[in-house]
Amino acid sequence: MSKKPNIAVLIVAAGSGSRLKASTPKQYLDLAGAPVLHRSVIPFTKHPLINLIQVVISPDAKTAYQGAIKNITTEILPPISGGKTRQASVLAGLTALQPHKPDLVLIHDGARPFVSFEIISRVIEQLAKAKAVIPVLPVADTIKQISGHRVEKTLERANLVAVQTPQGFDFSALLEAHKNISADSTVTDDAAIAEHAGIEVVCVEGDVENLKITTQQDLDIARSKMKSDTSQMQTHIGQGFDVHRFGPGDSVILCGVKIPHSHSLIGHSDADAGLHALTDALLGTIGEGDIGAHFPPNDDTWKGAASSIFLEKARDLIAQRGGTIINVDLTLICEAPKIGPHREAMRAKLAEILQLDHSRISIKATTSEGLGFTGRKEGIAAQAIASVSLPDTMK
Ligand code: MG
Repeated sequence: MSKKPNIAVLIVAAGSGSRLKASTPKQYLDLAGAPVLHRSVIPFTKHPLINLIQVVISPDAKTAYQGAIKNITTEILPPISGGKTRQASVLAGLTALQPHKPDLVLIHDGARPFVSFEIISRVIEQLAKAKAVIPVLPVADTIKQISGHRVEKTLERANLVAVQTPQGFDFSALLEAHKNISADSTVTDDAAIAEHAGIEVVCVEGDVENLKITTQQDLDIARSKMKSDTSQMQTHIGQGFDVHRFGPGDSVILCGVKIPHSHSLIGHSDADAGLHALTDALLGTIGEGDIGAHFPPNDDTWKGAASSIFLEKARDLIAQRGGTIINVDLTLICEAPKIGPHREAMRAKLAEILQLDHSRISIKATTSEGLGFTGRKEGIAAQAIASVSLPDTMK
């Protein structure tokens, strides 16, 4: 091909996910803060050789689909409703792509969220020489052909490969092959349709990371993979600040620890400025506003409440996004009471609430040299900073 080919990708996401026994089809389940389908689409939006992106969905999944692609800024063609079989869904997608005159088309499973840039490039590169290209992996296990529970024969492993997607095709050749095969055919990949039409199918190297999510176990593996793969994670920083004034009383609560004092801190809750600053810092890492947004001060539910509930809420919101707290660092600013004797008790309290090792929790104290409201002993100020490792939802 002399001019640059017009390359489309067709992402097949019309399945109902019956094997996963979940009420939500697998392509819409959460994978560390974004639906599986979102992660399956993103690599194609970033690949410079892909011009057209078409997704085939189940007719009843329009809302779930919009949710899956909402943060994607690259243009994606309006979704097409799939048919009863995978083959019918692919044909519907190819037909929708036809007016855009693609030269080449890649067909990808909506439930393969770890497709790499390199595998897309390998398939496209090989399409310069072949009409059908599939990424494959050697088979590690011995494969036997069975009938019921009886083995019929052992297959020659050296001649076997496991097939992945994206599979690449000459667009016209694949469309023609699809039209010539029975609509209720149960083929499970497009290469089989090309083979049926007598098109030579060429193999390129697949990628062990390019997992297809079919079972709950696959999903569990994918979720832990997202957490352990640092290239998929980003470090977020948040900061918080809080002040409470002194009033009558005999003790203050700071970082969940009760400290005897000549005054108490006044506030709607237990007035724990330390936990409030820290909660705001953690909420800051995920752009979730401040404590007041989650626990309105005019709501009597929180009157006198232990501030640990605020911190637990921030911790849970981070966990829900697949995030992990890296460290927190808190500075308490007051002339009195003395913080030093209580520092380890405070760290232990934060370690317990945040489920974090002590080494990742820092509590510091300073006076303000008699200056300002803290210097005049009118109240206590606290400032906090937190860092959190979060899945990169732009990947
Ligand atoms: Mg406060």
